Order: sequence, then C-alpha cells, then structure tokens
Amino acid sequence: MRHLYLNGAWVPSTSGEGIDIVDPATEEIVDRVPAGTPTDVEAAVAAAQAAFAAWAATPPADRAEILAAAARLLRDRAERVARVIATDLGAPYAKALKIHTLGPADVLDFYARTAQAHDGEAGRVGNSRVLKEPVGVVGTITPWNYPLHQVVCKVAPALAAGCTVVLKPSEVAPLAAYELADVFDAVGLPPGVFNLVSGRGEVVGEAIATHPGVDMVSFTGSTRAGRRVGALAAETVKRVALELGGKSANIVLPDADLKAAVKAGVANAFVNSGQSCSAWSRMIVHRDQYDEAVRLAVATAAEYPLGGPFDEGARLGPLVSKEQRDRVVRYINRGHEEGARLVCGGTERPFPKGFFVEPTIFAGVAPGMVIEQEEIFGPVLCIVPYLREEEAVAIANGTPYGLAGAVWSASEERAVAVARRLRTGQVAINGGRFNPLAPFGGYKQSGLGRELGDYGFQEFLELKSLQF
Ligand code: NAD
Repeated sequence: MRHLYLNGAWVPSTSGEGIDIVDPATEEIVDRVPAGTPTDVEAAVAAAQAAFAAWAATPPADRAEILAAAARLLRDRAERVARVIATDLGAPYAKALKIHTLGPADVLDFYARTAQAHDGEAGRVGNSRVLKEPVGVVGTITPWNYPLHQVVCKVAPALAAGCTVVLKPSEVAPLAAYELADVFDAVGLPPGVFNLVSGRGEVVGEAIATHPGVDMVSFTGSTRAGRRVGALAAETVKRVALELGGKSANIVLPDADLKAAVKAGVANAFVNSGQSCSAWSRMIVHRDQYDEAVRLAVATAAEYPLGGPFDEGARLGPLVSKEQRDRVVRYINRGHEEGARLVCGGTERPFPKGFFVEPTIFAGVAPGMVIEQEEIFGPVLCIVPYLREEEAVAIANGTPYGLAGAVWSASEERAVAVARRLRTGQVAINGGRFNPLAPFGGYKQSGLGRELGDYGFQEFLELKSLQF
C-alpha cells in the first residue's frame, strides 16, 4: 500500500484501508492507494496552513525556480510517468507520453515564468494601490481522464501565485499524482506547500470542500459532483472553481471542407477513447451533406484500431474502468431504444479482457434524445442533421452544457459569426488546434471560472486595495 504525502513526508493514512488500482487493458490489480479519511485531510490542511505565510512571502524568482526544476525533472522521468499513465488510465503509450506527460511539463514551465513575472501589484486606482495576493490554502479535486494534466492545471498556478495546496486525485487513476508528489519532493518544495491525500470523493473530497481552513476549492469532474462540491463549499464561503462536463457540438456549415471537418471531428470525438470533457461528441451536419458525412465518419472510425497501451498500432485504448464501460454500453443501448441508427461500433466486447468499447457512431440522432443530451464519456459520436443555420446553433446550444465546440466554413468570417452565438467556453474554427495558454472552462453547467494561461493564474489571487 502506498502512503499519503503530508507536510513533506510519506506517511500512512489513518484508515488502513486501501483502494485497488486496476489496469483497464488487463483487468489486473497493479497498485493500491490509501482510502484517506477526514483526519488525514485535517493533517493536510494544517500543514498547508502552517506553510502558507512563508511560501506566500517566498520571492517569486525562488518559487519560479522550484516550478522550473519540477518541469525539468518531470521531463527527465517522462517515460516512466507515461508508463504509469498508460497503465492506470489505459491511454496508448505514445499519447501518454506526449499529451499526458510532456503537456503538463510545459504547463509547469509556463507557470514558472508566470511566477517570475508576478510582482503582486495590480496598479493604482485613484488614491488606491491595488495588490494581488495568493488566495490561501487551495483544495484541489481532480478526475481520472487526464490524470496529470488536470492536477498540474490547478497545482502549478496555485503554487506560482503563492498558495499552498491539498490535492485529492481521482481514486480511479491516481498514480500520476503520486509521481508529481515525488517530483516536488525531489526538487525541494518546502514541507506543507503541497500535500496529497488519496481517497474517495464522498469522504476525502467532501472533507476538503467543507474544511474551514481551505480558502478555495478547485474541482474538475462531473457536473453531479461539482454541484455537490459547490453546495458544500458555500457553507464556509470558499472561492469555488468548477471544470465540469460537456456535450460539445461540431457544426459543419454547408460551405465547409466536409472531408476535413468530418475527419477532424471523428478524431476529436474519439481522442482519449472519448473520455475528454471537451470532446466534440455531436457532429451537426446539413441535411444535403448528411449521408456523405456519415459515410466519411464510418470510414474514418475504421482508422482507429483498439488495443492495449503498449500494443503496436493501437490508436484507442480501453475505457478506464468496468463502471465506465458499463455506463457507455448503457448509453449505446439507450441510443438503440431511442431509434438512432448504429452505423459502426456497438456493445460487442472486442477482446476477452479489458474494458474496451469499439469506436461507435450513431446516425439519425434527433435533438432531445438522451444520447444527444447527456455526456457519455466514451468513443460514441452522434451525428445530427440540420436544415438552417439557426437550427444548427439551437441544437448546439440545446444542452445544459457549454464547454467547447467547433465550427467549419469556407468563410472564416461566417464561422466566427456562428461561433459568437455559441454559449460555450471554447470554439475551434476550421480545426484550430488546442492552445494551452488560452482560457479553458465552461458556460452554463460546464463550470465556473477558467483554467490555463494567465486567466487560470488570476483565479488563485485575491485583490487588496490600499488607500493613501
Ligand atoms: P467525478 O465527478 O466522478 O470525480 C471527479 C473527482 O471528484 C474525483 O476525484 C472524485 O473522487 C471526486 N468526487 C466525487 N464525488 C465527490 C463529492 N461528493 N465531493 C467531493 N469530491 C467528489 O468525475 P470523473 O468520473 O473522475 O471524471 C469525469 C468527469 O469529469 C466528466 O464529467 C468530465 O466531463 C469531467 N471533466 C471536466 C473537465 C473540464 O475541464 N471541464 C476536464 C476533465 C474532466
């Protein structure tokens, strides 16, 4: 059994109970982490509180140096960390390395530079000098789908701002968070500045959200759990940041390059086996091009062979857990019942072992169907027809979510005009690639606040006005 990382040391949990970590490709238990307790959270928060004043007062250049050293060490250990992520998440090793490990190293570097440049001054307003100060102790609660990226998106800006942190990673894929704790330990982050308490959401997560010593809770996960965290945090008037679910729409306008739009749309829907909050899980296509789009999508799906993370040629891994596969299978069955037309994939198990789901596409999906409204979080793409642009926009905006999306058109101006009407935090125009410096976050029930880049940094700062 692993330990918790509290006040600069690896210590056993007070619970003695563990959570098995399962390799989703083999279904074998590969590790065991502590099921932490509220008492463990108490100790972590006490350590973070005790460390706060000194860390907040540490010169920005010194904070920057520690973050930059962490980025360097993470890169040095990248192959090992990627193997860990490939094993507990199931992501193909090449993706585990490039997206899941080296991506977060870049984010750490960005926030090292941000820390360096941050002087805590926000300028003058009349007779006031405005300061930007760290918000305090930050509780961070993260999901399994990008198990290092989601952690680093919160922890790096929080530390750069001068906050101290208590992290609860997902109990499903927590091993990358352990690697990060080890990196921070090795580069000499002072004790108490970063603390890790593994465990279940209802126990450790809720203890963090309710703890009066936690000044801010930054949560990424489902809308269901985010709502609960927000309600609990309200009792002690914490600052709350929520990065929640999505059901993003990929609108293909009639003048778009259909082939490019469909190919990129399928790739986006299936990346990380569809377990991405910002996945374009609905493709909205004009009726005149609908049949051709479905044909192209099915042909593209065939280019995504399934396999274990270390299998040569596999582009999609398993889903993270049996629960996740069962959930996705239930949605596929639901799509059938609702009368949508399965054009590829389905619920057949492709291999005797592993939580795999074939890349699946539904055509004939109507707005309002459950598979069109709810986040499935698996490799399932719904293709929805429209007649007029108005209708495409209404379909795109017609869910409780608003995280991401895409618009394709031969006219960039027309695409931007449609993008401006989407109630969503990000829109890719003609396949514009993900920008890790741009603000990321949701409208509506996809969340509160923004992560990444300078906007993500500002979330961890309080404003103070000094009047003269
Ligand atoms: P989840 O909500 O089940 O769990 C997320 C985290 O919250 C885990 O650490 C879990 O232990 C904890 N948790 C669960 N219940 C809790 C409670 N009552 N109180 C406190 N903490 C609790 O989500 P998941 O299955 O791990 O991840 C998938 C979800 O995350 C999807 O809905 C996805 O869209 C969302 N997500 C959003 C973003 C984003 O940036 N918007 C990014 C990645 C994932």
